[in-house]
Amino acid sequence: MTTAHQLLEIALPVPLPRTFSYRHTPGDGREAVPGDLAVVPFGRRREVVGLVTAARELPVGTTTVEGAALRDVKLILPPEYSLGPLRLELARWMAGYYALPLGEVVPLFHPPAPGTRARPRKKKAEPAYPDLDPAAIELTPAQAAPIARSDALLERGEFGALLLHGVTGSGKTEVYLAVIAAAVARGRGAIYLLPEIALTPQTLARIKLRFGDQVAAIHSGLSAGERCRVHEGAARGEIKVVVGPRSALFAPVRDLGVIVVDEEHDSSYKQDEKPRYHARHTALVRGRLARAVVILGSATPDLETMVRAREGRYALFGLPERQGCGLPPVEVVDMRGTGVREGFTDTLLTAMAAELENHRQVLLFYNRRGFARVMQCSQCGETSLCPNCDIAVTLHLRPRRLLCHYCGHTARVPATCPACGGDAFLPAGGGTEKIELNLQAHFPEARILRLDHDTTRRRGSYRRILTAFAGHKADILVGTQMVAKGHHFPEVGLVGVLAADDGLAMPDFRAAERSFQLLTQVAGRAGRTGPGKVIFQTWRPEDPVIQAAAAHDMERFLELELPVRKALGYPPYRRLLRLGLLGRRQGATLAAAEALAGVLRDQLQGPAVTILGPAPGVFERLQDRYRFQILVKGDLTLRQKAWLATCLADLKAAYKGLEAYLDVDPVMVF
Ligand code: ADP
Ligand code: ZN
Repeated sequence: MTTAHQLLEIALPVPLPRTFSYRHTPGDGREAVPGDLAVVPFGRRREVVGLVTAARELPVGTTTVEGAALRDVKLILPPEYSLGPLRLELARWMAGYYALPLGEVVPLFHPPAPGTRARPRKKKAEPAYPDLDPAAIELTPAQAAPIARSDALLERGEFGALLLHGVTGSGKTEVYLAVIAAAVARGRGAIYLLPEIALTPQTLARIKLRFGDQVAAIHSGLSAGERCRVHEGAARGEIKVVVGPRSALFAPVRDLGVIVVDEEHDSSYKQDEKPRYHARHTALVRGRLARAVVILGSATPDLETMVRAREGRYALFGLPERQGCGLPPVEVVDMRGTGVREGFTDTLLTAMAAELENHRQVLLFYNRRGFARVMQCSQCGETSLCPNCDIAVTLHLRPRRLLCHYCGHTARVPATCPACGGDAFLPAGGGTEKIELNLQAHFPEARILRLDHDTTRRRGSYRRILTAFAGHKADILVGTQMVAKGHHFPEVGLVGVLAADDGLAMPDFRAAERSFQLLTQVAGRAGRTGPGKVIFQTWRPEDPVIQAAAAHDMERFLELELPVRKALGYPPYRRLLRLGLLGRRQGATLAAAEALAGVLRDQLQGPAVTILGPAPGVFERLQDRYRFQILVKGDLTLRQKAWLATCLADLKAAYKGLEAYLDVDPVMVF
């Protein structure tokens, strides 16, 4: 016999850290259990999806709870949509660690509510990619080792994390596929995370080739109905392998055995909007709960991951060699006093001409998005740094000054270069569009494609540009960091980096790490088949970060960077937490930020915790809102983070129109 009525506690995606009571009448349907998703009315909204956190029998005749009239649940979603005990536990962990109301993580766990099924779009034919027959590949001992370790963990049903550090083209993907196959052979499932699926049609094609109908990809191009089908298929165990960007981590894969986090250093694993979370960290937690194997892989692992691996928390496996060919040599070309013409040195122009002459392709990387207005001397390349924080200070206009947005340090804008005394100390300018025009002037015959934020606004344009270039329908591809991702362009002989030191001047403590990663990644695009060559143009040829990247030498980079992180108390040695405040009125927003910083200094500051700021964001004003941030350096307890969340709620109540959020382990700190 079923219960006549149930009283359910439901967490809803609203910014209130509490649950709400509803009445559920199972009737002929099923009783609700914790972990189920429920559709309920909330306020004036008729349908909100929430998470059942508790269910008990409701005494006959009860119509109110704590004086409020009980509203009825509209629908308990079918069991395929239930979080089950493990994902419920994961949701609770996220709510605690990221200091979010539980309800705010709920949308990550369900596709659009069923019932909203759109017509499936016509399937476009997948382009065919040549691949080696898996049976024909003989895995190298370096590949076999992580596979054997994973297999042993799967055999024992134990959690374990592995870091696969392998240069581009060293065979990491083969390892992922073999470990997934081992899990599937044991009847277990897998999640394969990629930074951005639109960028990796080749990898997707390889996975499909291996696992056929047992694979489904989640990406932004899916309709609501298609998403539901993947979700239900995974929950029923028909789909064994789910591939996708960070959101695929929450797919209800049955008996999860493996989670792959490919290109684990990629910043797209961090969600920088509500709910803010990091998919790499969350993948490790889901893996632990599911007793699964988690494989993090990259040619340029995140510094934090690298340090954790050295501490023995992840088993470290290296794939030091490329399959088939070596890594391309990198030439570092000094831009000082060489008469750089519209961004190009003679060395680069000559090398490009030779490459085009041989009907090989050229890839050019220029990472100017022109947002961080960093000052740079156009004679010696000097940029100015904050004396306290070792990050670039940025130019702000009203009032005109240089400003560190970590600690708020300000300085006069120098009229001449502080290093060489030259009179061209100016905001760094330019952009890929200008470079493309200049290129056309240098090489009127060449077919040029550009890949950046502006050329990829339209749906499908990403893929079109990449496919065209991979098929040698163009001679030169110029672009921002989008060109550095894991593409396989077989006929690229030359990679040119137009300003290798650009990224070093970013106002972020991870500037050196990002530069090293980007330079190493982009260099890895050259000579995938046949000879390759890389040229780094730079104002600072002696810069050790650039030198380490030119040598493809991660160890050397770690020796440089880790002491700096340690001395200044940045991750991976201390954690960071960022509080963001936004408001239409500058004075009131700053006052709120200062009030908050004052409370934090009183309550948290100590030997283990430092409060920095408030300081304005790099975009002081964006979409008609003034932005300020406060940084908290140090390890906070769950209780302290929860307390911070209540501080923000109080602040919002006190300052009308203020927006405030908490960003745990921020990736972009500006
Ligand atoms: P990564 O993921 O590290 O970039 P891939 O797994 O894509 O590397 O491997 C690069 C290329 O080398 C692919 O074409 C792959 O099929 C091939 N490959 C990988 N492992 C082997 C192997 N053991 N023997 C021969 N070819 C291999
Ligand atoms: Zn500073």
